[in-house]
Amino acid sequence: MAQLLNGIEIRDQIKAECRPRVARLVESYCRPPGLAVILAGENPASQVYVQSKTRTCAELGIYSQTITPPASVSTEELLEIIEKLNQRPEIDGILVQLPLPPHIDTARVLLAVAPEKDVDGFHPCNIGNLVTGRPGPRPCTPAGIMELLRRYGIPIAGRRAVVIGRSDIVGKPMALLLLHENATVTICHSKTPDLPGVCREADILVAAIGRPAMVTANFIKHGATVIDVGINRIEDRALAEKIFRGDAARMAQFDKAGRILVGDVHPLDVRTVAGAYTPVPGGVGPLTIAMLMVNTIASAERRLGAA
Ligand code: NDP
Repeated sequence: MAQLLNGIEIRDQIKAECRPRVARLVESYCRPPGLAVILAGENPASQVYVQSKTRTCAELGIYSQTITPPASVSTEELLEIIEKLNQRPEIDGILVQLPLPPHIDTARVLLAVAPEKDVDGFHPCNIGNLVTGRPGPRPCTPAGIMELLRRYGIPIAGRRAVVIGRSDIVGKPMALLLLHENATVTICHSKTPDLPGVCREADILVAAIGRPAMVTANFIKHGATVIDVGINRIEDRALAEKIFRGDAARMAQFDKAGRILVGDVHPLDVRTVAGAYTPVPGGVGPLTIAMLMVNTIASAERRLGAA
């Protein structure tokens, strides 16, 4: 049976390490780290994510402010909001919750965030820092995965790593972080021929696709470490039954809520073939917000000269 890599435990470790860093800043500089979150429009999923981010800030003593322009906000108005936040000394991190309304020029908005306040690591300057291995904030989800691998002692150097997905926020930075730790990395995407065959070469397989339970047993080398980034909400009972065949507990969860979360990796197959795996929920998800807190604190430390 594969080892479960518990993202909740690692998140709690990371949060525990944040507390003394926040306390030190308050003691030495008389202010906590500050995070501003811009939530444009009323996307319910984004609202839930932003609430968890600000709740975690409150828990750790990080100051946070959420700015909620209406969905009709223009790109120019968003740029103005960001410019004001760039100037505010007590704000160390600026996070623009994605996706922005469709009429907004997202690239221009992300570019407007001052690189030293870019706690998501999405600014081209920080992407350059990542590519060249220079210090700077790393995108939170891949950074959280690296923490998980490190804290569980999963060897990376010299191993074959395959990342499925090439998005700017997960797939590409994930591949670069694994490369910097001396893995031999392959990035796969929707045009990759023989995807299962390529994935079977992986000692570390990361799935960041957005397709429920797509990675089945035939993608996984025996004993591999499988990291499931996908978060897919299933509302179709027949599909849930097909995925959770015979898992009465998960079907009872579905029946109670009328929906269930499924990763990109088949939840039953992974347990029989992998050596270690992250579950959904409770794997990668909890780490993302923890790393946002780390990036915010690190930004405050740098800006206050405490790093
Ligand atoms: P994107 O939609 O931006 O990227 C998906 C990638 O998967 C693309 O590169 C796409 O290829 C590839 N892909 C799609 N279908 C296939 C296929 N059939 N075979 C091979 N590759 C395929 O998604 P994100 O990277 O933003 O997110 C991926 C998943 O991770 C989602 O489920 C998302 O909800 C979740 N997520 C979870 C987070 C967390 O905190 N746990 C944080 C961020 C995301 P191509 O480029 O060719 O189109």
